[in-house]
Amino acid sequence: MFKPKGIYYEKEIENYQLGRELLEKYKEVPKVIIENHNNIEEMRKKSNSEFPDMKRNLIIGIRKTHKFVENHKTSDYLVPYTSSGCTAMCMYCYLVCNYNKCAYLRLFVNREQMLEKIIRTAQKSEKELTFEIGSNSDLILENSITGNLVWTIENFANSEKGFLTFPTKFSMVDEILPLKHNGKIIIRMSVNPEEIINKVEFGTSRLKERIEAINKLAEAGYKIGILIAPVILIDNWQKLYTELIQNLYENLSNKAKKEAFFEIIFMTYSYVHTRINEEAFPNAINLYDKNKMTVRGRGKYGYKEKERVEAEIVLREQMKKYFPKNIIEYIV
Ligand code: SF4
Repeated sequence: MFKPKGIYYEKEIENYQLGRELLEKYKEVPKVIIENHNNIEEMRKKSNSEFPDMKRNLIIGIRKTHKFVENHKTSDYLVPYTSSGCTAMCMYCYLVCNYNKCAYLRLFVNREQMLEKIIRTAQKSEKELTFEIGSNSDLILENSITGNLVWTIENFANSEKGFLTFPTKFSMVDEILPLKHNGKIIIRMSVNPEEIINKVEFGTSRLKERIEAINKLAEAGYKIGILIAPVILIDNWQKLYTELIQNLYENLSNKAKKEAFFEIIFMTYSYVHTRINEEAFPNAINLYDKNKMTVRGRGKYGYKEKERVEAEIVLREQMKKYFPKNIIEYIV
């Protein structure tokens, strides 16, 4: 259970029920009032080596921008929702590209406003829309602090149209299992070999726990996806990912195996990650591999085409062997 070291909050959160509840829940935790959750000078001035310590704080504010971004993968829109950032510290976390070392967990208490906009947009659309509400954070983790996912499902499930989806690397799903979700929530569990979770995905749930969570969610009738992501081509990647897919086959329930769709995403990395990781985790492995990676946009790296194609062939072979009937939505 995450216990914040300090709370930085915008005074206005006191006007919201969730804001008051969080202040009460953490009444013993030292607090600082801030003008704007986007710009905390004290945090900006900290060194990269303080990144893990910064992640122990909680920032609470009001979300001001509510712009939906069109998407063409597993959803129609990426939607800014009740949190951004996270308490975990995956060394490749895409949020570090956006927020740099300030990728700590921010909670937004104006949840009614955000969910109402989703419901309105879904109603107005002729086709059924799917909204990605977890592109900026991890909602299973966030729920363990705010209860927001329970609240969201309870308030969305009876709306006429639309689906919500989000990815997660956490296994604390028990609270949402008994909810009446009406098949409108699609939960995508992200998995990686245990060795990679240990060395790279600091502060997330173990592989075994994630697989158990998938089984529970499938049993509770949720639509489920499995993200093999991000695929990281460390030295023994062939063995690790082959074992991972076999492990999924052996430990997923029949229901989960029958229903899950897959997404496979290769790791992208950046100069910002390199800088922060070198200083914050000096003993960790270096994810930047100059022999296998190439520049993909300003300060960003991806795997070279040759490496990626070779890995895709291996992954597709294993998927064909163990999950021949499951849809792979995409490999990118
Ligand atoms: S769990 Fe997701 S949001 Fe959290 S640090 Fe890892 S990649 Fe980032």
